[in-house]
Amino acid sequence: MNTNINKIHARYVLDSRANPTVEAEVTLDNGSKGRASVPSGASTGKLEAHELRDGDDKFLGKGVSKAVDKVNTEIFELLKGHDAGDQDNLDKLMIELDASTNKSNLGANSILAVSMACLNAYAVATDKQMYELVPNIYGPPSLPVPFMNILNGGAHADNKVDIQEFMIVPHGFDQFDHALQAGVEIYHTLKKLLKDRGLATNVGDEGGFAPNLNSSEEVLKIIIEAVEKANYKMEEQVSIALDAASSEFYDNGTYLIENEKLTSSDMVNYLIDLTEKFPIVSIEDGLAEDDWDGWNEITAKIGNQIQLVGDDLFVTQSHMLQKGIEENSANSILIKVNQVGSISETYETMSLAQKSNFTSMVSHRSGETENVFISHLVSGTSSGQIKTGAPARSERTAKYNELLRIGEVLGLDNFNNSKWNS
Ligand code: PGA
Ligand code: ZN
Repeated sequence: MNTNINKIHARYVLDSRANPTVEAEVTLDNGSKGRASVPSGASTGKLEAHELRDGDDKFLGKGVSKAVDKVNTEIFELLKGHDAGDQDNLDKLMIELDASTNKSNLGANSILAVSMACLNAYAVATDKQMYELVPNIYGPPSLPVPFMNILNGGAHADNKVDIQEFMIVPHGFDQFDHALQAGVEIYHTLKKLLKDRGLATNVGDEGGFAPNLNSSEEVLKIIIEAVEKANYKMEEQVSIALDAASSEFYDNGTYLIENEKLTSSDMVNYLIDLTEKFPIVSIEDGLAEDDWDGWNEITAKIGNQIQLVGDDLFVTQSHMLQKGIEENSANSILIKVNQVGSISETYETMSLAQKSNFTSMVSHRSGETENVFISHLVSGTSSGQIKTGAPARSERTAKYNELLRIGEVLGLDNFNNSKWNS
């Protein structure tokens, strides 16, 4: 079968925050078509691959017509006639053409849209699901434990809560769909609890509620209440995870959280104290991207009990992860495809994590589209963990719904939860 690339066409589409983003469509010689659109972050890491935006007066500077043009001209000319099944080659060619260290010439949004659309087209051509084409980095394909962000703060909400994401982790279930159901029931129960207390039930960017609570402890208490009221057992069935996104409230060596100024060591102790009071199993970006000493300190202190996930710290890039492995700065990495900007580099980073006994949590961005590649990435690599927001809002539920479909093939009981159940 001829799976060479015949045509690549890009357009802008809108993301979940009303900003333009790149969508690429790839047509192969045999007529098969694939399509993919890219997400966009708000609390971005400084070293993320470059997102190319127009910066003119349209769309408040957020237009992507330059990125769309790059796909339709330079990238199409480069890849025309190449086999869509050779992902490494396609990504390598685009990276070489870009020739910068951070994809600032072509844009990570242009490159990634094409990278994912090629995989999608090849899956269509070969009558496979995308997860079947993804390398089995952590083991044979499986369904992940969902890390469901049900209460939003930080840059994703207009409330006074400093920590960005409070997630429930429904791990103590024998099937993925039962875990999802628990998450949904807890989400609705939390909504009712907030309402009964006269608190706002509007949602933040990732679909979690964004009430005006004043401290992390207050948030954690109400989440526990919701879990128990929904008739689930804390710790045995459901645990809690945080994404502090602390680079957002770190400046010049100081963390400004809950109206207090904390040193790096104070911040480490603040987080340790939370893990002692509440059933927290995972903390992402507890320390800022520039505070490597803080990361090393927290990993030395609680890294053998708590998952410590580097997001802004590693930006899905293998050379940053390598530094973290050498310095023992964390034990887990967040995987966001647009932080690195191509599928094969994402695989490379996840493989390095796996070899170094780091876990990988596959993640959406706060600005999302209906694209479901990450559901296939997490299942195919068998990384066992996905965070893709609340079980509400179509751009979030698209990912959970795709996992339900994948589960009909893999078996919904092929649920990769053993890490969390003792
Ligand atoms: P972002 O947030 O997509 O706005 O970067 C998600 C995260 O920090 O994990
Ligand atoms: Zn994060």
